[in-house]
Amino acid sequence: MRIFHKILCFHVQDILWEVLIYLMQNGYCNMKKELELYIHIPFCVKKCEYCDFLSGPAGNQAQREYMEALFREIDRTEKFEDYEVSTIFIGGGTPSVLPGEWIEELLEKVRNHFSLKTDGEISIEANPGTVDEDKLRSYRRAGINRISFGCQSGDDRELKMLGRIHTWKDFLESFSLARAAGFSNINVDLMSGLPGQSLRSWEESLEKVAKLHPEHVSAYSLIIEEGTPFALKELDLPDEEEERKMYEKTHEILEGFGYHQYEISNYGKPGRECRHNIGYWKRTEYLGLGLGSASLIGETRFHNTGKMEAYLANSGKVGEIREDREVLTRENQMEEYMFLGLRMLEGVSEREFQEKFGTSLTNIYGNVIKKYIQMGLLEQKEDRLFLTRRGISVSNPVLADFLLD
Ligand code: SF4
Repeated sequence: MRIFHKILCFHVQDILWEVLIYLMQNGYCNMKKELELYIHIPFCVKKCEYCDFLSGPAGNQAQREYMEALFREIDRTEKFEDYEVSTIFIGGGTPSVLPGEWIEELLEKVRNHFSLKTDGEISIEANPGTVDEDKLRSYRRAGINRISFGCQSGDDRELKMLGRIHTWKDFLESFSLARAAGFSNINVDLMSGLPGQSLRSWEESLEKVAKLHPEHVSAYSLIIEEGTPFALKELDLPDEEEERKMYEKTHEILEGFGYHQYEISNYGKPGRECRHNIGYWKRTEYLGLGLGSASLIGETRFHNTGKMEAYLANSGKVGEIREDREVLTRENQMEEYMFLGLRMLEGVSEREFQEKFGTSLTNIYGNVIKKYIQMGLLEQKEDRLFLTRRGISVSNPVLADFLLD
């Protein structure tokens, strides 16, 4: 009897091993952690009037020198062997000012260095008027499956006032070239609250873009940043009431075209939400590569130097270009969990908070939550806490209240 028992046990063990191997080979049992990559290309044709991003114009030689430095950084970066890269975002600047082959080269480097998920989301930012058929085909060859166009407005007068390099016609042309090249996941950025912009002109921009059926629309409102040409001008900006109406119209028009709002400024067709950005809001670990790019690895935040000379000279010694290392305390992590998570319309989960931090949401934020529920700005349903529609339109002070002293 004991012999039979042993044989049976061995068989059960064998079967379990077989099942485990099958699951691992078929990706059901992936023990690797998720990592997102952000790659910064700091070049633009010319600087827009409102922009304070780390970007600017540069000649072909300077651009190539930067790419060589970026390749050195990738070669010398830790291998992240316990991780699998789920999304890559090539942003800037305007990455589409570079020759398409350089982007192919870049992604080949990335693939040789990191382990990439087979169904990963790979996005590139592009400005209308800076892509052609060949470039877009290069992107597809490189495995890029999402393109994000900085359109900003459907009105040529507004585009000119913003200092954009393109017209609405240029955008239409780039958009249809991208479709022809096989891009079935396209985002369009639009901007409200522009100087002299009327509610009607904002509605028209939204409708013109929505009629093209991009899979995703990011609708931001203009922020006047210090040190930009706009900050030095006297601008005829829409007042608060006008801005609120624009925000509400955005929701109404885009929902009417089949988009759903999943974050304060972002709308997607079902299943086309930006996975990379959702990762930021859910605090997935990410590594920034390139000038000035930020990272969150484990619970440590740091960023690369924003000084081009230092980056070019030292990108091969990653320890020397990484700055402002900050290990987040438990309180910092809770704050981030709340103010990033509440940006999404699905909000945050009480159960997840308890699992992550070993204490309840009410224990830490009971008073704040109670206050905003009473004001009708937050709502609690089953396991989730989220902003109401009214809460979304005044989100900044509400989110700021989740900072712990
Ligand atoms: S294209 Fe984008 S990154 Fe470049 S200057 Fe304009 S807003 Fe800034």
